[in-house]
Amino acid sequence: MTKFEALGLDKPLLDAITDLGFESPSEVQEKAIPILLENDTDLVALAQTGTGKTAAFGFPLIQKIDSKSRTTQGLILSPTRELCLQITNEIKLYSKYVKGLNVVAIYGGASISEQANQIKRGAQIIVATPGRMKDMINRGMVNISKIDYCVLDEADEMLNMGFMEDIKDILSNTPDEKFTWLFSATMPREVSTIAKKFMHNPQEITVGAKNSGATTVQHEYYVIGGRDRYPALKRLADTNPGIFSVVFCRTKRDTQRVAEKLIEDGYNAGALHGDLSQNQRDLVMNAFRKKQIQMLVATDVAARGIDVDDITHVINYQLPDEIETYTHRSGRTGRAGKSGVSMVIVTRSELRKIKAIENKLQTEFLSKKIPTGMEICEIQLYHLANKIKNTEINEQVDNYLPAINDVLQGIDREELIKKIISVEFSRFYDYYNKTKDLNISDRGERSEGRDRSKVEIPTSGSVRYFINVGERDDYDWMTLKDFIKETVGLGREDVFKVDVKESFSFFNTDAEHSEKVLSTFTEFKVDGRFVNVEVSNNPGGGGRGRGGRDRGGDRGRSSSRSRNKGGDRGRDRSRNNDNRGSRDSGGGYGSKKSKRRY
Ligand code: ADP
Ligand code: MG
Repeated sequence: MTKFEALGLDKPLLDAITDLGFESPSEVQEKAIPILLENDTDLVALAQTGTGKTAAFGFPLIQKIDSKSRTTQGLILSPTRELCLQITNEIKLYSKYVKGLNVVAIYGGASISEQANQIKRGAQIIVATPGRMKDMINRGMVNISKIDYCVLDEADEMLNMGFMEDIKDILSNTPDEKFTWLFSATMPREVSTIAKKFMHNPQEITVGAKNSGATTVQHEYYVIGGRDRYPALKRLADTNPGIFSVVFCRTKRDTQRVAEKLIEDGYNAGALHGDLSQNQRDLVMNAFRKKQIQMLVATDVAARGIDVDDITHVINYQLPDEIETYTHRSGRTGRAGKSGVSMVIVTRSELRKIKAIENKLQTEFLSKKIPTGMEICEIQLYHLANKIKNTEINEQVDNYLPAINDVLQGIDREELIKKIISVEFSRFYDYYNKTKDLNISDRGERSEGRDRSKVEIPTSGSVRYFINVGERDDYDWMTLKDFIKETVGLGREDVFKVDVKESFSFFNTDAEHSEKVLSTFTEFKVDGRFVNVEVSNNPGGGGRGRGGRDRGGDRGRSSSRSRNKGGDRGRDRSRNNDNRGSRDSGGGYGSKKSKRRY
């Protein structure tokens, strides 16, 4: 008996699992599957990304559904179109031996009538983004009044993106007797609100890091070049529109400087450090308590004893000297049973400190990537659209409506929406449009760069490009190659070395095509989203290879040539940064000479 069989899964699923090459269940699968198969119960499962949550709910869902009935029995809500498609594909793979089972994906930016048709043909499982789902309910295109199971996947992300109201609406169209399975990486207050309001005595499982201290704090680190600390901080803030945070710096000077820069850049920020008068400090703290300040930049001493609940994020702009201090910092969040995130911005040379804290705290840190500019734009766009939707109308507006109508006369709805969104969105888009990837891998490579200013377009040989779509957009090297070929109007062999990563990709063409490629992808949109192509400053191994296939090696950790290049650059940068860092830290963390506690 295999481990999967022991969980209670039936033959069709076991056969599919064999095909998929899964050897043993992941922890969340091991915990969730038996509970969901044996009981009819609500469930709250907390587990990080990449722990196999899709199968944890997918397997039991598939097994419990009656594939002979055409009624829609299961609804899976997920935050983005990419995830929605990803889950749909996974469910299809899992259920390949289950006859008659249909899964349909519902998401914005694609034909709604086509999706409605697919549902009409019978969909026992629907995987949907909240916005489109609600739209289709309103138009009577779906019927979820008989579902038995509702899965809220990545619940924290959905709420972060502002889908609370949509989710409530959608759930109000489902029967009370259904079972709700909520999956989330973290448990912020909004998620527990949903759990309390819409679930009945849910069983709870938690997977992964068991911290000694506050179990509700998730620790994350982001590896960047030393000079990119501030831009990285901005991106972390922009990725979390509702952030309410304390940002810790090591010195009063840095604290003041970072706060000033944030204010200059339009954030609700304030500084808290010992050079301020008591009166000034009181003012800042009051503003912070009232949430007029979203990012409180503070020194450790000044922040001691901040007793504000609801802090969503602690950001370690720089790591403190002592591990104890780190514990105090991260303890500012995750209070009163709420969950929080402690983020650390580090250079590669500081990774040892992370290891040291992990050991001391018996906690695992998650290595995370600073989102790319385009990812932030997408998050902000959703956030903004939902903010507009959820805004309560101010009745006073009525008085001015005739005059406003005069001004806006002749603009149709579509255009008006675009304009309204652009008012805010352009700020992010203009800023992030051409920014580079800030991440440096744990092993010292900077992700293949795309700082256009440094790039010269070769006039002969082959040109390597960066494109901001990847696996998350459901591309593999073949489909991406076809997409580029068809969009630009190139021949079979003209696009090569296609290398698809999670959220972006690379490809080559001969230099003669570069103008055509770049002009095609200027202001180019798919489903309302900008698809951006730029010349990469990584040559990607030069000449024509065997096409996309050889990326298998690349992908593991890039071919020797590109690694050396990226690696050197990464090392240079962190060396610069080290000069300052290591003088401070007295000969390195973990070494015998070190007086510090890492
Ligand atoms: P999550 O939703 O937790 O982020 P996913 O469900 O997307 O994670 O799974 C991440 C990857 O792991 C997927 O590619 C999936 O096919 C794979 N995977 C899931 N379960 C197993 C398993 N038991 N053994 C091997 N791979 C697995
Ligand atoms: Mg998932």
